[in-house]
Formats: sequence, structure tokens, C-alpha cells
Amino acid sequence: MSMATNSKSSPGNRAEGRDAMLLSDLDVTVEPMADLGQRTWFKTGGRADLLVTPQSVEALATLTRRAWHDDVPVRLLGGGANLLVLDEGVDGLVVSLDAPAFRLLQVERGGASASIRAGAGHDLFALMHELNRAGLGGLEHLAGIPGTIGGAVVMNAGGTYGDTAQALTTVEVMDARGDLAIHERASLECSYRHGGIPSGIVTRATFRVEPTDPATLRKKFQELFSWKKSRQPFAASSAGCMFKNPIDPLSGARVSAGLLIDRAGLKGLRSGGAYVSPVHANFMALDAGGTATDIAALANVVVARVLDHSGVRLEREVVFWGRHPA
Ligand SMILES: Cc1cc2nc3c(=O)[nH]c(=O)nc-3n(C[C@H](O)[C@H](O)[C@H](O)COP(=O)(O)OP(=O)(O)OC[C@H]3O[C@@H](n4cnc5c(N)ncnc54)[C@H](O)[C@@H]3O)c2cc1C
Repeated sequence: MSMATNSKSSPGNRAEGRDAMLLSDLDVTVEPMADLGQRTWFKTGGRADLLVTPQSVEALATLTRRAWHDDVPVRLLGGGANLLVLDEGVDGLVVSLDAPAFRLLQVERGGASASIRAGAGHDLFALMHELNRAGLGGLEHLAGIPGTIGGAVVMNAGGTYGDTAQALTTVEVMDARGDLAIHERASLECSYRHGGIPSGIVTRATFRVEPTDPATLRKKFQELFSWKKSRQPFAASSAGCMFKNPIDPLSGARVSAGLLIDRAGLKGLRSGGAYVSPVHANFMALDAGGTATDIAALANVVVARVLDHSGVRLEREVVFWGRHPA
């Protein structure tokens, strides 16, 4: 097998040595000191010691197994739409499934029903367009949610009109030893913004879809997308909602974290280049030149101020990565 080493390798970087040796005979693309922050929707943040893009499932399996054996932390990067990479950067291996082997899409039609099998690296926006063109409905409630299939499954991404788990039928997960297992949706404990996926790397997922008139489907998709865009600062650098909607202890229902932040008077609050969006208070956005440190500091202030104001401790939805074991 060949190793395609990215030309961005810099002499003397921390990635050289033991971790790079893990990869020398594998079919992977390697980028030492990769600018990871630029691969997130915040468009800021630290570097990865080593960003690795396996070109096949076999290469991913061997890589995962070796990293586990050598105790090297592995983190999986999806579309970076729910991720803040702290300015200190990330150690170990960051794995991207952005190779064709992990972006396959297959459709199986059987009379009134149909299903799709999508690679975890497949882009969710692209999938929406492909389903619209093919006249396959059942996932349009995910319209306008950025990221990959893997990220959507792990985060159980969704919103007012439904979540990823509701159409999911199976998910294929690679464990730390590089072994693959298929899990039925019924065996997963999915909940709000939690896919209930066993620890490991999601490599593929299958979804139930329904043949639907393409024009009707496109109209529904556009309505849902427009609805979302009218309520969220879509063009700003952000990772969507920073916090999960907490459960009200009295009613047992979820309350809007954005509403709690708004009621604490925090819309427009700033920390360096980061600010609480005036459009949607649960979006922490960033001016050009703002840093991941600004975002992290702002999120801490928001947690403290909401706790003071309403007695609720907000829990982060956005994943933060830094220099410590995953
Ligand atoms: C403008 C904007 C709007 C948004 N709106 C919504 C919304 O309406 N609803 C919603 O739920 N979210 C929303 N989000 C957040 C984000 O789109 C979702 O959480 C999305 O599912 C993240 O997918 P990703 O591929 O980008 O994951 P990443 O951000 O790359 O990763 C998120 C986490 O998932 C893990 N992960 C990713 N892929 C895999 C994999 N294959 N195997 C194992 N672990 C994996 C990562 O390790 C990380 O822990 C929004 C974000 C933005 C920027």
C-alpha cells in the first residue's frame, strides 16, 4: 500500500516520530500540523498534530488498531459543524473520512418503500439535494443542518421537525480494535442530541426513505430550509447551538436554552471577537480575527450568567477539542 504524504509537512513538527510511524505503510493521506480550525464552521482554532485521511476501510481499521495498541488518542473529524478546536491544538491522530471510500451513497428501492446506505463522510447538504432529485422523502426535516452523515448520527442532529434517529435503521461502527459491527436502530439508546452510538467510528448508516413526488419534496425542503434560515444567523461563523435545551425540572419538558440566554439579557454580549448572536441567543458567533479562546471564554460567561439568572446550568452541545486524551 502507498502512503500519500501531504506536502504541508513542516520540518521538526511534533507529529513526526512515533505517530507518523503508525502510518508509513498504509493507504492514507497525512497532513502534519494541519490547520484544523479552518476545517470547522467557526473557521478558527488550533492545529492537529496529525490529520489522517484513510483511503479505504482496511486502512482505517489498521490505523485504528495500531493507535489503540500504542495508546495514541484518535479523534474523528466530520464536517466540523459542531466543533471548536481550542487554540492550543489537538494531539494524537485526527481522522477524516473525506475520501471517496467513505462517501458512497446507495439507494435500494422496493415498491412503496426504499432505503439508502450512506458513507459516514457523505455531506448532509449534498445528501438532501440527491434525495430531492431522486424523489425520496423522509429526511427533509434535516434540511439546512450542516455536517456529515456520521456527525448527524453521533449527535442525533435535528430540530423542531424531527431528528436523525427517526429515519435511521442501522449504523456501522468500527471499534478501537478496528472491528466493524452493525447496530440496529432499536438497540441504540438515542435521545435528544445524543445518537447512543457505541464508542468508535461510524463508517456507514442506513435510513428508511419513501418515494415521493420530487416537486412536492423540493417545496417541503425549501419551506423547512427557509424557516430555519429565518430564525438562525446562518451566514455567521458558528457551530449552531452552543448549548442543549435543558429539561425543566417541574414540567419535565425541554426549555429553549436560547430563551434562557435571552432572558438573562445576554444577546450581543461580547468576549474578544466572539459574541452572542442578536438573532438567536444560543448561537455564539465570531468576527473575523476572533479566536477559539474568545468563544470558549464567552461560553463560560454565558453558563455563569444564566445560572445566576435562572438557576439553570446549561450543558454544552458543541464539542471542544484540546491537547488531552480523547
Ligand atoms: C449554521 C449551523 C446550523 C446548525 N443547525 C443545527 C440544527 O438545526 N440541529 C442540529 O442538531 N445541529 C445543528 N448544527 C450543528 C451540526 O450541524 C450538527 O451537530 C452536525 O450533525 C455535526 O456534524 P459534523 O459532521 O460536522 O460533526 P463534527 O462537528 O465534525 O463532529 C461533532 C462530533 O461528532 C463526532 N463525529 C463526527 N463524525 C463521526 C463519525 N463518523 N464517527 C464517530 N464520531 C463522529 C466528532 O468526533 C465530534 O465529537 C448546526 C451547525 C451550524 C454551523
